[in-house]
Amino acid sequence: MTEIPKNHPRYESLVTREQISAGVDKGITSRQGLIAQGRGEAFDYLIGEKTIESAEYAEAVSVALLLLAKKPVISVNGNAAALAAADLVTLSKLTGALLEVNLFHRTDERVKKIIDELKNNGADVVLGENAEPLLPLEHERAKVEREGIYDADVIFVPLEDGDRCKVLAEMKKLVIAVDLNPLSRTAQTAHVSIIDNFKRAVSNMIKMIPEFKEMTEKDLWEIVEAYDNNIVLVDAIETIKENLTAEQNKILGIEDEKNNNGAQPQKEPKKRVRMQRNAEIAKRVMSRGGDLMME
Ligand code: ATP
Ligand code: MG
Repeated sequence: MTEIPKNHPRYESLVTREQISAGVDKGITSRQGLIAQGRGEAFDYLIGEKTIESAEYAEAVSVALLLLAKKPVISVNGNAAALAAADLVTLSKLTGALLEVNLFHRTDERVKKIIDELKNNGADVVLGENAEPLLPLEHERAKVEREGIYDADVIFVPLEDGDRCKVLAEMKKLVIAVDLNPLSRTAQTAHVSIIDNFKRAVSNMIKMIPEFKEMTEKDLWEIVEAYDNNIVLVDAIETIKENLTAEQNKILGIEDEKNNNGAQPQKEPKKRVRMQRNAEIAKRVMSRGGDLMME
């Protein structure tokens, strides 16, 4: 692994890249997994590389659901195993959820390697080797274990593919997905969509468990029943919009109203460099499109 200096501004993201690429070297993660991580990173950038409040709420509801479930299962793919094998084992032990390896680019060898990785991180039992094509899907993710995902009532599927997410939801299972992209089919079909980086999400969930274990079943159900996944999706999209607007304003030298608390701007707008457009023209370009570029 390349040594990443701790003070690098993108430290977390670079470490994550190293983990994924080490996963490929070990034969745990597929090469396509590198690309999937890239798509996730792009959305993390837009979300601000932190857990937003609505994602923390979705994480809390997910913990409640996993604790309430009769047969919870955690579905593990090559990216999840490379990024947080130890945390997945901890989550499984604390919630009683079974671990099952389920891969889009499935080979028996890769399934075995991921099972070994989870066992090396403390797992006792990991399903996935005896999977049968039980789901109505054309690809390899159709293969699940009868005693595991097929029979589960609540499934935690970090980094899921949209097709399978939909099929699982149609099988009347409650699906919890982790996906940084609020526009993906996965995020839009899961019952609980955690719009957060998978590593942050699992670690947050683990920290919440002790407090939730103190609660009664009735209280846990109340949390679950009050939940509206649409609000979480809308809030993530709104966060992205706000972050993009703040970036535009930064470029235009417009003060961020939110940081101002209604007071007068603290400092003069930044001096624009000569090549840059007048702020008014720039705003018109953005609101009316490219034809104004000719002005
Ligand atoms: P879908 O199939 O749901 O429509 P997709 O085809 O766009 O989504 P996939 O390649 O199937 O995407 O799955 C990868 C998904 O996982 C992407 O939406 C990406 O945002 C997300 N993702 C990748 N890495 C992470 C990560 N570390 N944390 C959270 N989400 C991630
Ligand atoms: Mg997909």
